[in-house]
Amino acid sequence: MSTHAKTVTSSNDVNGDVDPSLDDNLSETSSAREETELDKGASSESGSIKSSEETKETFDEETASGGSDLSLQEEQNEMQSNESTDIGNEFQEQNKTERCTQKDSENSPFITNTSAIESALTSSQPGAKQLQKDEFIKNTKTVHDNGYIEEDVTMPSVEVINCPKGIMRDLAEPYFDVWRLDRDSMIDHIEYMYHDLGVVRAWKIPRSTLRMFLLGVRERYQDNPYHNFKHCFCVTQMAYSIICKLRLRNKVSVDHLGALLTAAVCHDVDHPGLNNSYHCHARTPLAILYNYKSILEQHHFAVACRILSNKEQNIFRNVNNRDEVLTNVGDLILATDLARHKDVMETYRCNIDTGFDFKNNSHVLSLLKIIIKCADVSNEVRPETVASPWVDRLFAEYSEQSAREKRERLPVTTYMDPDLVNVPESQEGFIRGIMLPMYDELCRLATDARAYFISPLHEALLRYEIQNMRERGV
Ligand SMILES: [Zn+2]
Repeated sequence: MSTHAKTVTSSNDVNGDVDPSLDDNLSETSSAREETELDKGASSESGSIKSSEETKETFDEETASGGSDLSLQEEQNEMQSNESTDIGNEFQEQNKTERCTQKDSENSPFITNTSAIESALTSSQPGAKQLQKDEFIKNTKTVHDNGYIEEDVTMPSVEVINCPKGIMRDLAEPYFDVWRLDRDSMIDHIEYMYHDLGVVRAWKIPRSTLRMFLLGVRERYQDNPYHNFKHCFCVTQMAYSIICKLRLRNKVSVDHLGALLTAAVCHDVDHPGLNNSYHCHARTPLAILYNYKSILEQHHFAVACRILSNKEQNIFRNVNNRDEVLTNVGDLILATDLARHKDVMETYRCNIDTGFDFKNNSHVLSLLKIIIKCADVSNEVRPETVASPWVDRLFAEYSEQSAREKRERLPVTTYMDPDLVNVPESQEGFIRGIMLPMYDELCRLATDARAYFISPLHEALLRYEIQNMRERGV
């Protein structure tokens, strides 16, 4: 993050962490046990996290005692994983197959997490798989008003909902006005997206499960000026819009589309309004836990896993290859760390240069990473009336972090300091340095999509250039 301090400015979804009282934060987000383990890790002689053997023992004890504290298991496994030298490299370099074969490897926290969830589900519901299988045998068809025929894989609470044509048309547009939706409407609209992309049908998600999952995620988004549930909705809606404008729904598997939607929904969950840079400088327990690498992103994924570990919120419950899907969700959330920007861009660019292949899983994943990254910083693609409030909110959040950094005598991030930052200049730099290059690469897959994404960016750029000149009295 710090390497982008100059150019990564406003719209940048900088990750931040550790809320006001770190201890409070951890106790809020985790169990008391998790807190205890963190304390142990933070106070160990070496000042680093526990050894993997210690972690394993604790994990075994927890399991043996019948404890169902999955959140602790997840965090512990993540601590284990952090002992590997470079998690980022692991995820960048391993392809899906490799990850799947490394299910028990200590190098992949995601796989371990998934296994923990899976084992919990299995143990908590004996014979569940067979029962689900039996329940899926009877199929019916439902014809929607828009002519869409959906096979209703009968399950006790699977319901087909009608996605209103007008709403889906609006959601497909990058200029969708996110400000007109209230909190409950946002849940409804995300639910529509899951239905419209065929994810509900493919994953056999009971309606109550999807809504409980979305409500659970919404509850865990904090009320920050910027990193809040509405930002989550914006990113999800823009990801959906990109899928539509690039005509990806028939080229990318429904599992991949579902992973993208889910990653977008969870990508900033429990964001405390302070970024990774703050965590590193303040040497917070969360930074120690995650070994100073993609601190927030790993935390967001851990919180998502915690929510999914509740049976009534587990939208992957009926997915056959849920390990793979959940791993992809984790990879996509990690890709939103701007510290990984260069690697993600280079991989995708290389795939495009050598001939993008939709049948190649690693090619598709590189595309999904670019999509979630584009969606995450997409405010300036939207009309000025929609984008402007986000700029104000982002700098309000930055300002709060900056004040805290000063108060705690930590290094102050220049682009966050209200006394030093020039907002139009900052936005201009961000659009030029990050957004345009990324959207340019994205639109190489469908050049006609440039009208929807690149043209508005040039308009925004011109607007900020003019503002900047005015402020400088040119
Ligand atoms: Zn974000």
